[in-house]
Amino acid sequence: MHIGIAGIGKMGGAIAHRLLDLGNALTVWNRSPQKLQPLKQAGAVVAPTPAELAAKADTIITILTDAAAIDAVYGGAAGLLSGDVRGKLFIDMSTVEARTEVALAERVRSKGAVFVECPVGGSTGPAREGKLIGLAGGEPADVARAEPLLKQLCRRVEHCGPVGAGAVMKLTVNMPLMIYWQALGEALALCRPLGVDPARVMDVLADSSGGPNVLKVRAQAIAQMLQGRDAGPATFAIKDAIKDLRTMAAEGRRRGVDLPLVAKTLACYEETAKRVPEAADPAVVSIYWANRDRSTDDR
Ligand code: NAP
Repeated sequence: MHIGIAGIGKMGGAIAHRLLDLGNALTVWNRSPQKLQPLKQAGAVVAPTPAELAAKADTIITILTDAAAIDAVYGGAAGLLSGDVRGKLFIDMSTVEARTEVALAERVRSKGAVFVECPVGGSTGPAREGKLIGLAGGEPADVARAEPLLKQLCRRVEHCGPVGAGAVMKLTVNMPLMIYWQALGEALALCRPLGVDPARVMDVLADSSGGPNVLKVRAQAIAQMLQGRDAGPATFAIKDAIKDLRTMAAEGRRRGVDLPLVAKTLACYEETAKRVPEAADPAVVSIYWANRDRSTDDR
């Protein structure tokens, strides 16, 4: 099997390295070609256009920012679907609304190809180690065809239903965490006057019902940020967290589901991004709200 990946951002890059480590033949394409150099050195073939990537590979993975990016990469004269793609398998792993995946599935199927969505839980570390959680949507036979490849990337692949179900499940998985970063900021603001060492506070939270799983790996990095120290490169961007919260709100509206905390959390993230323009990691939301000066209140 020859695999192609279109979209070598943080996640696409980590997934590509994982697939190369396992000995797969891999072709890659990215809008910004400079990001492809490390993969070229690691043995991947670089395609000059999405169309040429689709021509080389029989299974094509995409993991892109949003619906506009999907449209740009799949559509157009040199897009993934511009050539003869009959019988090929396309797997989209982007975090987007269900209707985006449903529309994409129709486009892919109209070209005689097969489509599975599989947005993922977990960030670049789990991607590099094959420990993502795959939230697949598609016809059972199509998901079964994708599974051997997905299992190289995921410690668990959950078939959630037809195309669109995976997208909704991905937003479901992300929602409590996105809200948590804001809740953590408010909790830290409350205990800040105690003057307790941030490392101790984060340790107590991680060891109690005050912390979800993510604190087991992130508590110390957050303590470092609270102390004004660098916590290393972000693996998930705050702008993408805002994109995810907007996507959750849109999905809720479309389905007639009230999501009041999502709306409030989105406003809090937007304020953080405005006040801390250099913020990269979504956990910066916690730091900003822990230390927020009420005189800057612009809600
Ligand atoms: P990223 O590093 O910003 O990568 C985004 C990718 O999309 C890049 O390859 C980018 O190309 C491409 N892209 C964006 N707009 C485009 C356009 N108009 N035309 C062509 N290509 C375009 O983001 P990421 O963190 O890898 O996330 C990718 C997706 O995975 C998102 O949907 C995100 O929500 C989801 N996700 C992320 C994580 C995480 O922890 N990072 C975890 C799970 C899911 P350029 O390089 O040229 O900009």
